Amino acid sequence: MKKHVIIIGGGIVGSTAAFYLSQDSNIDLTLIDHGVGTATRAAAGIICPWMAQKKNKDWYRLTSQGAVFYRQLVADLESAGAKDIPFKQTGTIGLKSKPELLDKIKKIAEDRRLDTPTIGDITTLEGQEVSNYLPPLKPDFYGIHLEGGGRIDGGKLIDLLQEKFLENGGALLQGQARLIDEGTVQLDGRELTADHIILATGSWLPDMLEPLGYQVDVRPQKGQLLELDTDFDTSDWPVCMPYGQIDILPFENGKIIVGATHEDNMGYDLTLDPEKIQTMHEKSAEFMPDLANYPVVRTRIGTRAYTSNYAPFYGTVPEMDNIWVASGLGSSGLTNGPFIGWQIAKEILGKDTNFDRSPYEPANYIKR
Ligand SMILES: Cc1cc2nc3c(=O)[nH]c(=O)nc-3n(C[C@H](O)[C@H](O)[C@H](O)COP(=O)(O)OP(=O)(O)OC[C@H]3O[C@@H](n4cnc5c(N)ncnc54)[C@H](O)[C@@H]3O)c2cc1C
Repeated sequence: MKKHVIIIGGGIVGSTAAFYLSQDSNIDLTLIDHGVGTATRAAAGIICPWMAQKKNKDWYRLTSQGAVFYRQLVADLESAGAKDIPFKQTGTIGLKSKPELLDKIKKIAEDRRLDTPTIGDITTLEGQEVSNYLPPLKPDFYGIHLEGGGRIDGGKLIDLLQEKFLENGGALLQGQARLIDEGTVQLDGRELTADHIILATGSWLPDMLEPLGYQVDVRPQKGQLLELDTDFDTSDWPVCMPYGQIDILPFENGKIIVGATHEDNMGYDLTLDPEKIQTMHEKSAEFMPDLANYPVVRTRIGTRAYTSNYAPFYGTVPEMDNIWVASGLGSSGLTNGPFIGWQIAKEILGKDTNFDRSPYEPANYIKR
């Protein structure tokens, strides 16, 4: 007999789970998405956790797996007939003002490469060598280049995953769903039942579970970024991670993204703050002066989900084995989100995951 799975939330986690589950003909699948504040559509797109100096080893393990997994996701999408997959391994350059500051990062990346060959070549660069990779960059910096770093357009990726899921017979509904009980979801006054429910609702997970008596340790964080349309040939530029708050991401056709803000205590606010956009634009010009000549053509705003220890979680809700959740992905959810969605899909399909998810147990964050 077919199993019915309802996924609530069509960001990167929900859409990846939908794509993989829809490949199984024994699954009858419904994806419900409100589509407001979606972090995935607002995100910058850096896929390179290997220079991070965060001490949380569990975060690193999951996020590094997520970055490596992109190669498989691309292959699986290609096998499903997808074209123009918006992931590109461009390499990533971290910038520093002094050469000695690169040594520590180089050591971290080299140690990590021992069991993650995807990191590829690790090269330190100075002055003009860095600007050769990124022509408008002032030749004043020291850089470390990681060959395996890359970038993703999150919005395009979820559109593609959902397109494939629809081709496989999935149903996509738009609206704000409510969880009634372990097997029932309400949407627009209609009740839908399921054998499994996946709550991939990012920062809105507390609202989903509160009616069932759960408290969830997840808070929203506002993020804004800006886009420039430049005349540069940016298609092969690496992602640039300067020191300080901003990153500079070149995409195709001269598009450059600068971001992002990390605004706590703003709740689910989605209003544009022109001052913050201007500050980020000015900051980018301190590294690449020519960027000041291009006006901001688009802005994006989304809501990240954070737990109190900044770590993500996924698995089943305590005492409710049929309800799956994933949240708290913070500022690295584009990187680890597809891996998490794939893992949840495999568990629902009863497949071997080859990954110990015990450090990411939802019970650490969800209490009755
Ligand atoms: C500005 C910005 C820059 C970022 N840059 C990066 C980056 O460079 N690299 C990186 O790895 N990560 C980055 N991130 C983080 C990353 O985007 C997120 O961690 C990730 O996208 C979260 O995915 P998600 O699927 O959990 O949630 P989301 O993408 O937020 O999706 C959740 C979806 O659930 C829907 N929903 C919620 N409640 C309901 C309901 N009741 N009914 C129906 N639907 C509902 C929402 O509308 C939304 O569409 C960035 C985030 C922001 C905001």
